[in-house]
Amino acid sequence: MRQATLATVLTDSRCLPVASESKSASQTYLDKRVTKSQRGTKRTRSQRARERLQTKEHLVGLARELHEGELADKLERCHSRLSVLTCGRHIARIIPNFTCEFRLCPDCGRRRSRKLQSKYLPAMRGFMLHRKVTPVHLVLTQTHRKENRKQSAKRIKDSLTRLQRREFWQNHFKGGTWSLEFTKDKNGLHHTHLHIIGFRRKFFDIELLRGEWLAVTGDSHVLHLKQIQDIATGLREVVKYVSKPLDIRRFGAEDLKEFLGLKNMRMFGTFGEFRDFCKDFEPSDNDAAAVSELESFSRDLVEGCACPQCNEPLFDLRMSGKELPQFYEQTESSPPGKVGTSWN
Ligand SMILES: [Zn+2]
Ligand SMILES: [Zn+2]
Repeated sequence: MRQATLATVLTDSRCLPVASESKSASQTYLDKRVTKSQRGTKRTRSQRARERLQTKEHLVGLARELHEGELADKLERCHSRLSVLTCGRHIARIIPNFTCEFRLCPDCGRRRSRKLQSKYLPAMRGFMLHRKVTPVHLVLTQTHRKENRKQSAKRIKDSLTRLQRREFWQNHFKGGTWSLEFTKDKNGLHHTHLHIIGFRRKFFDIELLRGEWLAVTGDSHVLHLKQIQDIATGLREVVKYVSKPLDIRRFGAEDLKEFLGLKNMRMFGTFGEFRDFCKDFEPSDNDAAAVSELESFSRDLVEGCACPQCNEPLFDLRMSGKELPQFYEQTESSPPGKVGTSWN
């Protein structure tokens, strides 16, 4: 039934909007997930810091279970001692004693995603300006099969390559970025999604894109598309999966073992015209200013500098990584002007 509808749409060159049909189970699943991540359930910094600690403890436990002692030690050391530059109410900069650079480490993932943002945001702004394109966030999914993560990732990336070669894609998009997200449903089945920032040259009916995706995957038409209003937010949304490719707290030792086997798999990349644009792109001073919102300027801050948010002088607090959530809590609840001096 669905196929017939798609075929009709594909042959209909007038591109009339298609009446929405009742959603299939998989679509409902995706839509819930997407809206959930897009709503970005607002958690406080302290809650997020506490979650990172829990994730890390969980990972250390799994690594020990697998007798990966070296990995467990590295994870435990990573961000275990911190030098926190603060005015008492705001945290301007956190310098860790050590970073493990393990791909599932939530602290290192945050750093990695910030790096990607400061690298690609100026290029994206430049590209949008020069090529007159509008960014969209596209989520592509595939049906699940009996395969491991590596095979699943390869399958969806190969589908994307085929999609890019098609006339429809080339007529409507000028490249973009992709990142991989792995999820597991409650039945333990792997789902792999591609999150894409696509630079759209002109509007199209989403049903046409569904038909194209079905044509390259052979069995999947489930996708989600939304316009990106603010490219900084859109990029942050997409690189989130680089720092958090999967829900680690639902991870077992077997999952970690499998992930360790994926060593060289890329989780983020650029493609099409945007990829070529990035190769030659040199950020101007204006672009550098635009990135300052990503805290990259905080690199130059030292003790005694004015807090970028309130101008009070910054001082250096030493604490353990485990104390950070509590410190965030204190900054969140302290009234304006009140400086938390009870630390150190
Ligand atoms: Zn780390
Ligand atoms: Zn401040």
